[in-house]
Amino acid sequence: MTQITGTLINYYFHCKTQCWLHANRINLEDNSEDVRIGKVLHEINEEKGKKTEISIDNIKIDKLTKDYLVEVKKSDSDPEAVKWQVLLYLYKLKQKGVLKKGKIEFIEKRKQRKKVHFIELDEVNEKELLEVLANIRELIDLPKPPEAKFENHCKKCAYYEYCFI
Ligand code: SF4
Repeated sequence: MTQITGTLINYYFHCKTQCWLHANRINLEDNSEDVRIGKVLHEINEEKGKKTEISIDNIKIDKLTKDYLVEVKKSDSDPEAVKWQVLLYLYKLKQKGVLKKGKIEFIEKRKQRKKVHFIELDEVNEKELLEVLANIRELIDLPKPPEAKFENHCKKCAYYEYCFI
């Protein structure tokens, strides 16, 4: 069974076609500007000696502090997708007996200030999360991807040419 990663749940909320393509290993990520920026941010942190990324099973967490699981994003263009990504991480940690709250830091390219959002895994959103995971499994097991529908964010997507050109 495909393990549902943070990237996959993020894509599910961002675009169902993208979620299917990624889950079925049709990966064009290296061409994406967004992914390149993410890698640069990661490298900058490494150069500064901040090797804080933590791997647990199939998920990669940016930072764990005493109280928080911290997810760092370079844009706040899809906060809903990031929220579910973080809830998945909190759930995976909870399964291992580690209870944390979520902290999402949006650090935008030309902006000096960062926006910070907080989120907690509770009974209600945990139940919703389990339903979302079941829906993702159903989606990615479909024999072909859902039809691509053009949205503004498509122009920045690694799959743009695949979907529309
Ligand atoms: S180009 Fe648009 S429709 Fe295609 S995978 Fe990306 S976001 Fe989805």
